[in-house]
Amino acid sequence: MSSAIVSPAPVVLPALPYQQTALQPVISATTLGFHYGKHHQGYVDNLNNLIVGTEFADLPLEKIVRATAGQSEHSAIFNNAAQAWNHGFYWHSLTPGGGGEPPAVLKRLMDSSFGSVASCKKELAAAAVGQFGSGWAWLVLESGKLRVTKTANANTPVAQGGKPLLTIDVWEHAYYLDYQNRRADHVVAVLDKLINWEFAMENLGR
Ligand code: MN
Repeated sequence: MSSAIVSPAPVVLPALPYQQTALQPVISATTLGFHYGKHHQGYVDNLNNLIVGTEFADLPLEKIVRATAGQSEHSAIFNNAAQAWNHGFYWHSLTPGGGGEPPAVLKRLMDSSFGSVASCKKELAAAAVGQFGSGWAWLVLESGKLRVTKTANANTPVAQGGKPLLTIDVWEHAYYLDYQNRRADHVVAVLDKLINWEFAMENLGR
């Protein structure tokens, strides 16, 4: 007797918005290959295994993150769901030929929130470099102003209903093959050459 019920995996690995070589030389194809193909895929696979048969099985990813945030009995689901969400958001926060001048609306917000684009980048870099251990640096919109935050491990502004505009992954797996211990060099290169201000701009209106 074989009547295996196969239900589709509720959470899928989203496609990368560019080729694996597209972020070179700032992020090598090797780093991107492991980061996306092993780490991000791993979070998605773990999550799907963890939520089978639970109340979370049919929820969209962001709802799983919010529903499990701060609940110690669901920490494994939260960690994998939040990491799956964060990485999907991170890929879009980077773009080949990024950096440079932000779109006018975003630039005005940076000016009013930080004083200048340069100050905004400086704060982002400081958060990314200053995060002790694994985590994320974020540009978020809060009460109509831009703000820079950082989170540890899998934590994410969306868990508390925050509005992230972009993020930088500062887990060692994001840069170690290319930069070893030089996180600051990686972060500066990302901000100057890859950061996707257009994506942040789109998120302003979401
Ligand atoms: Mn990562």
